[in-house]
Amino acid sequence: MKALIVIDYTVDFVVGKLPCGQPAIDIETRIAELTESFAAQGDWVVMAVDLHEENDAHHPEYGLFPPHNIRGTDGRSLYGKLDEAYRRERERIYWMDKTRYSAFCGTDLELRLRERGIGEVHLVGVCTDICVLHTAVDAYNKGFRIALHTDAVATFNPPGHDWALGHFQNSLGAQLLSGGQPVRV
Ligand code: ZN
Repeated sequence: MKALIVIDYTVDFVVGKLPCGQPAIDIETRIAELTESFAAQGDWVVMAVDLHEENDAHHPEYGLFPPHNIRGTDGRSLYGKLDEAYRRERERIYWMDKTRYSAFCGTDLELRLRERGIGEVHLVGVCTDICVLHTAVDAYNKGFRIALHTDAVATFNPPGHDWALGHFQNSLGAQLLSGGQPVRV
């Protein structure tokens, strides 16, 4: 059994308050395609979506990044074609708020994966070297197999992107995929 975890592909992270910009826009179609195809095959699909409160000085990201994904704002909406895919497949997709980089931190993601007997997580979204990376590290430590779609992750930091792909492959044992086919970096 496998699950697709779509990380932080929201308006704020693509073109809004903390934008990855063009690299994130470039993966729009592929992220939507993967979401539709996993849902159509009956695989579990999760939207892991950053959630912040306004002026939350106790949050560790406070001061590190501009305010983003604030509760109740349009910036937390899924971006573009992913939003359309989510609306179509809503009944088969789990929306999961998260407040830290990792989708496992402070959420029930692990419990829900275990109760479904899912041992393999497919990761897509942004940012490759922040939230996707931290989610992958937690997945590795918890014993999940990892697949990482190189054509469906992006960041605002190109060297960070390249470094993270090598780390997923060489240190976390992730299978890298592009166009659904195995690739190596
Ligand atoms: Zn955040």
